[in-house]
Amino acid sequence: MSRPADLMRPEVLGQAAYAVPESAGMIKLDAMENPYPWPGELHSAWLEALGGVELNRYPDAGARALTAAIRAAHRVPEEAGCLLGNGSDELIQILISAVQASGRPVLSPVPTFVMYEVLARAAGVPFVGVPLRADFDLDGPALLQAMEEHRPALVFLAFPNNPTGRLYDSRLVAEVIAANPGVTVIDEAYAPFSGHSFLPRAGTPPGLMVMRTMSKLGLAGLRLGYLAASPEWIDALDRLRLPYNINALTQRSVSFALAHARVLDEQAGILREQRARVSAGLARLRGVRRVIPSDANFILFEVARGRGHAVFESLRVAGILIKDVGRAGGPLTDHLRVTVGRPEENSAFLAAVAEALRA
Ligand code: PMP
Repeated sequence: MSRPADLMRPEVLGQAAYAVPESAGMIKLDAMENPYPWPGELHSAWLEALGGVELNRYPDAGARALTAAIRAAHRVPEEAGCLLGNGSDELIQILISAVQASGRPVLSPVPTFVMYEVLARAAGVPFVGVPLRADFDLDGPALLQAMEEHRPALVFLAFPNNPTGRLYDSRLVAEVIAANPGVTVIDEAYAPFSGHSFLPRAGTPPGLMVMRTMSKLGLAGLRLGYLAASPEWIDALDRLRLPYNINALTQRSVSFALAHARVLDEQAGILREQRARVSAGLARLRGVRRVIPSDANFILFEVARGRGHAVFESLRVAGILIKDVGRAGGPLTDHLRVTVGRPEENSAFLAAVAEALRA
């Protein structure tokens, strides 16, 4: 009888599956979701649009209408190609499997979005993490030196970064792009909340790719991400994409959402305002040691030494779910990450943190 241990790498078996905590009935501020549903009339129009989808047929394999809608709505440069993924997670996986046989590692500043490392390790590709500075900005010299030493196939830069929310210095990012002998993926998952983007430069130079997702904008349930890159790269990566990776309901729903983008943009605007309010509210609390400046829809903050997990737990007991990123230890010790929610959710969060810190 063959068992997983006979056939799978110990490194993979040693990894925990991606854990999602139970959140039923809670104020959910842990996963960078947009807290707003669509207004009633839009919801009805969407349901009507879905009524025309033929579920007995495979979806459009090239998702052509949706790709055209994304290119127009997000102004993907004309010279660049565009590949859609079942969430940007799938695109990360495709990118890693594309370079798997090169023997060259994946490199990223750390701490960052965990899936770069998780998916690299799952594919047997070495991962090099280059520590960020204490203020969570890029350590330029260390990064450039690590790139020279390891000659990575892929460098992932989350811009803004998760879980820190920081937007790296654009000039440093441009230096990294120029110096990288491999591919630089600028992961702009939080673009709706940030004022800077490399999308207009996707594909120039050919190793520069820009990845986006619809998840944080308000469509996390649909699972759609895209990669803008040189046509040569998109053509090569497309060979690794599973057929029909974007299902018919997602294709129709995202096209519909893009035709009504104003609603989502307005929601993002409210969340940016609320971000300023929550950041200021946290900074005023005794027991909060620092609040990291955020260009995303979440905020990383540090509480008094040794209190991180206790504060997370008090919030959980009070019915508010945030993310205890400090459990990973290292530079994130006693740091917590809260997603910006609706004004009343944010008020409840700020009151509960104040209470937890008093205890
Ligand atoms: N990139 C970054 C930086 C993220 O934080 C996330 C989600 N947490 C993703 C990519 C994945 O997004 P999705 O798969 O929902 O498109």
